Amino acid sequence: MERKEDNALIPAVDSAAAAALLERQKLSWPLVATNYKALEEVKVKDFELDGFRIRVQFNPSRIVSSGAKVDPRSIRERKCFLCRANLPEEQETLDLGGGYLLLCNPYPIFTGHYTIPSLQHTPQSILPRFNDFLRLIRQLDGYTVFYNGPKCGASAPDHVHFQAGTRSQMPIDDEIDSQVRTHGRLLSECPAGSLWEYMHYLRNGFVIKAKTPEVAASYFRLLYRSLEIRPDETEPMMNLIGLYREGEWTVIMIPRKLHRPWQYSAEGEERFLSSPGAADLGGLFITSRQEDFGKVTPEIVRDIFRQVCYSDEEIERVGQSLVFSGK
Ligand SMILES: [Zn+2]
Repeated sequence: MERKEDNALIPAVDSAAAAALLERQKLSWPLVATNYKALEEVKVKDFELDGFRIRVQFNPSRIVSSGAKVDPRSIRERKCFLCRANLPEEQETLDLGGGYLLLCNPYPIFTGHYTIPSLQHTPQSILPRFNDFLRLIRQLDGYTVFYNGPKCGASAPDHVHFQAGTRSQMPIDDEIDSQVRTHGRLLSECPAGSLWEYMHYLRNGFVIKAKTPEVAASYFRLLYRSLEIRPDETEPMMNLIGLYREGEWTVIMIPRKLHRPWQYSAEGEERFLSSPGAADLGGLFITSRQEDFGKVTPEIVRDIFRQVCYSDEEIERVGQSLVFSGK
């Protein structure tokens, strides 16, 4: 296992250590025991769409996240739940090195679900942290590691964090390679990696394949620069999903054009509480209210994804701008 110079005496925390942490927390923290037990009997609906699968999960404990108020005033007025000083007494922490902690998420949607906050209370922002993201993907290679932009599903936009979840519980983990083969286009290639765009997937985007962190980071910067930053935003809106398999990083970038669908703030019958983040777009679509789970259809999922994600044409336009920039 890799060791960092600054903590050379501490063996790096890996996927096995993460799994052991969760087992300890199930014994020491009743909330964790209850919510992971509930997940075993969680209700799901599987939808087959255009050659891919969406798994809708009814998870009432997630109302804390999907209903989270993330406007600046509400954020200012609450105690940050990712700062070390404010963690629940029962929460055990593991030092991942590089300035990050590993925490069990007490409101899981995966059978192993972790939050990875920075030790610093500083706003969610990916560009200066992308190399950290790559390192975490490799370190926790038994899991899928993901990132939600400040207005793309993060419930603590004021505190940098990643999450990790059990591999293959988001359908995208196993679908992305075939999606790229059938509906993808190669944008750039080098000996240690390649960059692709993919379409016809409702959450269209880009895939970076890389054997070195340098290649992954250089493709990421290219993509980042090609996306617009809106006047009220601090970075291009996006979700990232990362996996490390057989010596290779796969990073999926899903650009976003909207934080929440109109149904989120609708009244009465039309209300549908979905605040999509990486997991939802990965195909593990969370509903936290009984009425939403009851009425959800493939058409509702399709409608929500169309509102918040790029169309085929919008992805192609970004892809063309990359190609023409000479990379
Ligand atoms: Zn904080």
